[in-house]
Amino acid sequence: MHTIKDINIDGKTIFIRCDFNVPKDEFGNITDDRRIRAALPTIRYCIDRGCKIVLASHFERPTAGVFTPEHSLEDVAKRLDTLLKIKNRLYFDDSKSGAVITPRAKELYENMNCGDILLLENLRFDKGETENSQEFAKELSQFGEIYINDAFGACHRKHASIDAITKFYKKDKRAAGFLLAKEVTFFSKILKEPARPFVAIVGGSKVSGKLQALHKLIDSVDKIIIGGGMAFTFLKQMGYEVGNSLVEDDLLEEAQLVMDKAKAKGIKLYLPVDVVAAAEFKENSIIKYLPSQEIPKNWMGLDIGPASSRLFREVLNDAQTIIWNGPMGVYEMDKFAKGSIKMSHHVADTHATTIVGGGDTADVVARAGDIDEMTFVSTGGGASLKLLEGERLPGIIALEAE
Ligand code: AMP
Repeated sequence: MHTIKDINIDGKTIFIRCDFNVPKDEFGNITDDRRIRAALPTIRYCIDRGCKIVLASHFERPTAGVFTPEHSLEDVAKRLDTLLKIKNRLYFDDSKSGAVITPRAKELYENMNCGDILLLENLRFDKGETENSQEFAKELSQFGEIYINDAFGACHRKHASIDAITKFYKKDKRAAGFLLAKEVTFFSKILKEPARPFVAIVGGSKVSGKLQALHKLIDSVDKIIIGGGMAFTFLKQMGYEVGNSLVEDDLLEEAQLVMDKAKAKGIKLYLPVDVVAAAEFKENSIIKYLPSQEIPKNWMGLDIGPASSRLFREVLNDAQTIIWNGPMGVYEMDKFAKGSIKMSHHVADTHATTIVGGGDTADVVARAGDIDEMTFVSTGGGASLKLLEGERLPGIIALEAE
């Protein structure tokens, strides 16, 4: 992949598309700044080469054209300033206008010196961003002689700052940043030449969202563990009563195909043998630990049970490579978080190369205090899933187009 190291950036103005879409708590505090920290190597590399740096990112889904403080990148600017540890070099367009290309942004840009950094406002304040507008992309391209894409977490979207903008830069004026290159290299290397046994753990809400990834993974793994809500479609297909658990009835046959494919290839497939079940989807509802065969009609499985946790730990024991995408239960509620937290500890305790993909899964690992124990925690959810599906990301296709 063509990276920032392959082009001459000395003293130039660099437009870097970052992914600063970080989680915040109910008080508006940034709870996990890994995405901001992950952008630092590329930014520092540009600083060291005397560049002027313009940073751009989206943040959640604001209504375009309307300034809403909760969608502003102001807090990101503050955190970035702290992390960069360089005083008074970071500028932020604080005109609160609900736009990205503002007179204030242009003024700040005109007055930049080498080593200065300008952070533009949330790209999605302009409707042109999600519409992949050529016009908006052209305006953005006025903010840099060189375009660097370091927004792995946004690369699966054909948006203006990811796709359309590349048309305004010749091939030797655009490249991937260090984060993007690292993410893509990691996933492709692991999927091509994994140390074996190679185990995939797939969880989360729905089979539909991960069906293609399941098919692709079965082509390369030795064992696959299926947990979370998606396990119930498999259990139902196997003839179990799953009560009101999350099931996609239209995918029962697909679930059978996945199981048949695994069997034909000699891949070991594991499903939860017990669940944490509740009659209602509430924090204070009464729960029961039940074997998967004994879920009562009106109840639902919201986490894997202790026996499944032990079983999955055994499955992971001899693993040399583990890919994990998707929580084992509704981990957002403490009552149903144990299965996911334990899974995080089990993965962390192995001697395998461990790759965690997906925003929710990274969140589980962070809550479990295991981030530093993992080999690699991806900064992209949807994007990492696309890579698991064996697809090329639109952002990378655009970057490498002639
Ligand atoms: P995904 O975005 O597909 O990775 O799904 C993540 C979501 O799956 C999380 O918000 C979990 O709360 C949810 N989830 C996990 N297990 C279950 C379950 N047994 N029932 C309902 N939702 C679940």
